[in-house]
Amino acid sequence: MRIYLSRPHMSGREERFVSEAFASNFVAPLGPQLDAFEASLCEYLNTDVNCVGLASGSAALHLALRIADVGPGDEVWISSMTFAGGVFPVNYLGAIPRFFDLDPTSWAIDTAYLEVELRKASTENRLPKAIVPTDLYGQSVDLDALESLATQYGVNLIVDSAESLGASYKNGRKAGTGGDAAILSFNGNKIITTSGGGMLVTRHKAWADEARFLATQARDQAPHYQHSTFGYNYRLSNICAAIGLGQMEVIDERVDRRRDIFERYKKELSNLGIEFMPEPDGLRSTRWLTALTIDPKETGITREDIRLMLLENQIEARPLWKPMHMQPLYENAAYHGRGVDEKLFSNGLCLPSGSDLTMDEQDEVIGLIKTLLI
Ligand SMILES: *Cc1c(COP(=O)(O)O)cnc(C)c1O
Repeated sequence: MRIYLSRPHMSGREERFVSEAFASNFVAPLGPQLDAFEASLCEYLNTDVNCVGLASGSAALHLALRIADVGPGDEVWISSMTFAGGVFPVNYLGAIPRFFDLDPTSWAIDTAYLEVELRKASTENRLPKAIVPTDLYGQSVDLDALESLATQYGVNLIVDSAESLGASYKNGRKAGTGGDAAILSFNGNKIITTSGGGMLVTRHKAWADEARFLATQARDQAPHYQHSTFGYNYRLSNICAAIGLGQMEVIDERVDRRRDIFERYKKELSNLGIEFMPEPDGLRSTRWLTALTIDPKETGITREDIRLMLLENQIEARPLWKPMHMQPLYENAAYHGRGVDEKLFSNGLCLPSGSDLTMDEQDEVIGLIKTLLI
């Protein structure tokens, strides 16, 4: 492959921070770089939150759900159109996912369906333990609506902000500050990366303390190893956190660049039967990946025609997430919606969007797509 969907993009300062970690011999899942990385996230998010560095975004979600007391047989209500890592932790805990569709005007979880189902579940005494909406392709969900529903029904709200670090909701409120907790991912293909890693961000200090406890094998206070519950080995490596320190210096540049890439695709390819992911007024997405839909009736081609043609030219493009309720694993799961996500999946495509994509590379992608459209 010559042009990838989204590649790691170093600032050039990461190795210095990693060297400092080596110099102090903190080659371990604790240390000054990890503390500094957590502090830099708290400062960046600019809200009174606690940040806990973890091995991955999925680990962060697993811990958040466990802390929200999700257990065997409990329900977790979740966006159907998302990445598997944002759902599997529900299975780790023996809980049952119930899936929800997207709002076509924002591609965020449709809060109208949620509201109806919460009202029903409340009268039938079967409310979920947690709601997990996804900030899809870097765009914040409707935090006001979700937070007020969560409060009204007394349900935990855990926002999957794995793709939206650097985005903002209304009035500049940063994505990643929502709900009882939000999770972030620093996997290699995300906006910034620590090679692999994640973060739990929570306004509850008790949740952060519990996450640190559970992430380090749930050791009780004692000189020997003493355990009254089971934990996990989920802390972020200090070496990986050092990479994150270099990445945090350029987070806003990376987001600006991804937004520019999106705008350029949009300018060149709109009005040819291609539509781009909407951005509601007042919100600012990271545009982690440029997501678009192709109308086969209007264009005479499908998203697969474009994807395969790009692949022949060693350019990576990928269909939008296949909704979870369409996955064989979840064929028996409940789903509420009208198939907005199903349609986005059948017509949707993500184009190369890494912040290191050059203008020439983007021109090539645009030129190739135009040969199919005109
Ligand atoms: C990347 C991602 C995750 C998982 O994060 P990892 O760090 O890869 O475990 C979860 N949810 C969404 C929406 C993601 O994009």
